[in-house]
Amino acid sequence: MKGFQILTFFILLKIPSAFTYPLSSTDHNLAQEYIKKLYSVDSDLLQGSKDSFTAGIKKMQEFYGLRVTGELDYSTLEIMKKPQCGFQDGLRYNIGNEKWKHTNLTYRIQNYTPKLTESYVVDAVRRALEAWSEITPLTFTRISDGEADLMISFQRGRHGDGSPFDGPGKFLAHAFAPGINLGGDTHFDADEDWSLDPEGKNVFLVAAHEFGHSLGLSHSKDIGALMYPIYAYLPENEFILPDDDVQGIQQLYGSSSNGKIRPHPVTPKTCDTSLTFDAACTMRGEKIYFKDRFAWRIHPQIHPSMVVISTQWPFLPTQLDASYENKKENINVFFKGTKYWIVRGYDLIDSPRSIYDFGFPRTVKKIDAAVQISKTGKTFFFVEDQCWSYIENAGKMEDGYPKLIEHVWPGVSTPINAAIQDEHMIYFFHQYMVFVYDYDNKEVTGIQYASSHVCK
Ligand SMILES: [Zn+2]
Ligand SMILES: [Zn+2]
Repeated sequence: MKGFQILTFFILLKIPSAFTYPLSSTDHNLAQEYIKKLYSVDSDLLQGSKDSFTAGIKKMQEFYGLRVTGELDYSTLEIMKKPQCGFQDGLRYNIGNEKWKHTNLTYRIQNYTPKLTESYVVDAVRRALEAWSEITPLTFTRISDGEADLMISFQRGRHGDGSPFDGPGKFLAHAFAPGINLGGDTHFDADEDWSLDPEGKNVFLVAAHEFGHSLGLSHSKDIGALMYPIYAYLPENEFILPDDDVQGIQQLYGSSSNGKIRPHPVTPKTCDTSLTFDAACTMRGEKIYFKDRFAWRIHPQIHPSMVVISTQWPFLPTQLDASYENKKENINVFFKGTKYWIVRGYDLIDSPRSIYDFGFPRTVKKIDAAVQISKTGKTFFFVEDQCWSYIENAGKMEDGYPKLIEHVWPGVSTPINAAIQDEHMIYFFHQYMVFVYDYDNKEVTGIQYASSHVCK
């Protein structure tokens, strides 16, 4: 019975793992197709045989930083099922830095999708190209007939280029590296749920990624890069081309002489001792640490993984302030600014609410950290140098609060970025440090690097 429970647990939480269990024949077929499409490198190397399948799986596991076993395991299969780009790194006939010889490129939008207005698509394509042109010498001019360098269209199923689309889900689009005919062209899968909602697929984000291929970039292993193959939602107005992509495109074309100087986001490094967190919480046996658009999911039995928050909880904002688990209610609560979100597993319970529901005074504009003490069932909130105790059962703040953090939690530096409980220890994150607080003895027993919680 225990084995079954563990298995159910993995499925409920979609934890990436190296855990192997019997896969269905549907899963095996899916994996065969996936590897054949994206990772069968040498067509003369036992094409279609078990050996080439194993080699393809290994190549894929290596790309995604999974354990390289050559076995089709749960975490490998999970990635195959995610919405992603259909660009074939492995099958590129002209591998290397193919690039356009001219910088004044043209583009043409050949057709549209009924799911979005034409004016939106025109604008989304223009902005997606601008992400690349503002940091390079490249310019893009739209033409309305004839052959452009970048031909852009929505296509369905088999559409004459040997890379049929697969209907809704999984492969969203593909593009061709610079060159004549198909070179530089981008095809969107017309069957996707193209939408402006976080739960749908965003044309602007997908276009910006595909145009990277149209200009000569391959996929990046950097999970925060635009050129990472897996789709991750981000509100359009929060999009800034990540640093990894800037480096890549500038290697091909150089930098812009009149580019706007603005910081391009760098993906946090798991084992960097200066790493800090925005928030942390437990969730059904996992520990989850949040930073910008990213989270680390740590489970005692499973290889730790870094994820983009929106690929797990598309409705949550980036740069969270705080989060905690209410084990009794089987929910997690996430905070940003004066709002909070209640989540059960992967589902949002109700629309975001106001933090003043908890009884905070209006002078509180954001929560720094939160943690529920399992022994008492009370939740502590930390704001600057003060803390509040919230009695979950009674649904109100405990009398006598707020108190100074230094009086309730002696030895802990403020402000507190994040807090998490593990048995009788409470871990308080302050900048790149963690104060390990023994709840039973009411004292700090050690100081750690924050990164030590995710760097395994
Ligand atoms: Zn791609
Ligand atoms: Zn195509």
